[in-house]
Amino acid sequence: MVDARDSKSRDGDIVPVRVRLPAPFFFEKVSMEQSDCIFCKIIAKEIPSNIITQNDDVVVIQDISPKAPVHYLIIPKKHISDVVSLQEADALLAGKMFLMAKELGSKLSGSQAFRLLVNNGSDVGQSVFHLHCHFLSGKKMTGF
Ligand code: AMP
Ligand code: ZN
Repeated sequence: MVDARDSKSRDGDIVPVRVRLPAPFFFEKVSMEQSDCIFCKIIAKEIPSNIITQNDDVVVIQDISPKAPVHYLIIPKKHISDVVSLQEADALLAGKMFLMAKELGSKLSGSQAFRLLVNNGSDVGQSVFHLHCHFLSGKKMTGF
């Protein structure tokens, strides 16, 4: 990285310098938020969504195309593409998605039954490649 003092030449003229960010800053930013990911954009409030609730780790939004009277998406704020991309270090975060489901279930009116669904891979219907868990409730469901 160029020191800011280098921008001043010896005879006092200001000369332009190109300042490069240190690599760790750049890589950290990309791993925290994927620029082409719709859920990262929702989390960053770059595009609107109907947020049901959130905490430090997880956000819950209304699915834009609901398949049940209650259809939420439980989304980790950290960008993880899918289940197979989970690392050991993400174990607590994955658990927090389940705990959020428990919390949502406790607030349901009537039957507190709900279904959780996670797609992994386009062959089974994953269309958004930022890990999320569908929370479905409000109607009788049988089988798959
Ligand atoms: P999946 O097919 O398992 O990847 O689920 C993706 C879900 O995200 C689908 O149920 C979509 O209806 C939902 N979805 C896509 N875009 C949005 C959005 N902008 N806001 C809320 N839900 C969305
Ligand atoms: Zn993302």
